[in-house]
Amino acid sequence: MKVLKFDGECISSSENLLKTVKIIMSEKDFPIIVVPAFDGITDLLIDGIEKARGKEVNVSDTISVLTETHYNIAQEAIKNDKVFNKTIQDITVQIKKAERLLYGVAYTEEITDAVSAYILSYGERIAAIILSGVLEDNGCQSKIIETDKIGLVTDENFENAIVNLEDFKRNFNFTAHSIVNEKVIPIFTGFFGSTPEGKVTTFGRGGGDYTASVLAYGFGVSELEIWKAGTAFMSADPDMVKNAKIIEKLSYFEAAELVYFGKRSLHPLTIEPVAGAEIPIFVKNILCPECAGTQIAKDAYIEENIIKSVSQNENISMIRIHGTGIGYKPGLIRKFSNALSAENINIFATVSSQTTINLIIENKDAELSYEILNKYKGKIIEKIDFVRSMALVAVVGEGLVRKRGIFARILGAVSEEKVNVEMASAGASEVAIYIIVPKDELNDVVNAIHEEFFPEVKDKN
Ligand code: ASP
Ligand code: MG
Repeated sequence: MKVLKFDGECISSSENLLKTVKIIMSEKDFPIIVVPAFDGITDLLIDGIEKARGKEVNVSDTISVLTETHYNIAQEAIKNDKVFNKTIQDITVQIKKAERLLYGVAYTEEITDAVSAYILSYGERIAAIILSGVLEDNGCQSKIIETDKIGLVTDENFENAIVNLEDFKRNFNFTAHSIVNEKVIPIFTGFFGSTPEGKVTTFGRGGGDYTASVLAYGFGVSELEIWKAGTAFMSADPDMVKNAKIIEKLSYFEAAELVYFGKRSLHPLTIEPVAGAEIPIFVKNILCPECAGTQIAKDAYIEENIIKSVSQNENISMIRIHGTGIGYKPGLIRKFSNALSAENINIFATVSSQTTINLIIENKDAELSYEILNKYKGKIIEKIDFVRSMALVAVVGEGLVRKRGIFARILGAVSEEKVNVEMASAGASEVAIYIIVPKDELNDVVNAIHEEFFPEVKDKN
């Protein structure tokens, strides 16, 4: 048995939707499907919630775009009138519920995390109905399972919930048996679960991947396939490096590094549930279903070249905390990271010495982090500053810590471009080296490192 998860872009045009249906129907056994919202719908709902606050009139704008977008896709993709009418009837019921919740926001002028999460879940609920309609139109019976009703229990973080895997597995067994025995294709809504009391919680943007991984674990399947409309894991960002090539195999550790980078990546929590159960992930492309894609599995596959990918994050800032006594004072990093995490600010990486602690964070968090940490200025902390417009380059590959000369080659390639490496972290991870460079030099840096490790690709052109 397999779990198949499709990205929003795989279902957001009737052309792609039909490709997706073909892939589902070509499976021999009944696959378990995880469906996301259509592209743009989660954004529409996020925006709609904000606009609804105290403004009843704005609700109808959101609802008409919601209705129209889904109506158009259904109309293009479903040929049989009866199936089409039934689909529209079913999505109308869901849209009405979302509408009522938005009016709630308008009247109460209050947006709670719980209500937001509940409203956002309608993107997936509606998409599931359309996918089910298109499958039926093609002669294939399916059954929708909404994931707030199956014991997919999470913590109480409504925006970035984490599933309690053990509780889930315990709660889930009965449901699993009954669904699989029905001999129809089960379609699970991605992106959300529920608290033990049954309130909807979401997994954060792109969270459908995590749903798929959790279900793969729950069902104990042999494979998880994550389908995209394009290539995902590549040796570099193809918009930046012309000769970037697809990565055939990654270990769970390499993938766990790379999920933080790249446009078609995975939700960062996707790796953990399947890695524990040693279920391989195949990341595939609906535009080339026969292509192997990228396999992510337990075994470290060490290429002669060692390096598999040169990836970048362009949206980072660096907070620098200086003080001559920093190395002497225990507990400082913990203190800072507690202060930031209390505000939901995530630290991407830290690099420290005896006199400086550097925290790498996302640009959007820079000002607030600076404000929070500045309060600690005093005896030990002499100065805090932050640098914007930096870029983090991650060079990833199993075996890089044990192979002599890799770090030197990276630094050499960068220095040939006459670029200064602002900071580096080598040896922190077994599979990744990070360097930080000025953002406006990023393109040259990534190309130079890629050329250093993938010269054969260059020579072919
Ligand atoms: N619909 C959600 C989002 O856009 C979850 C997902 O696509 O996986 O973030
Ligand atoms: Mg997505």
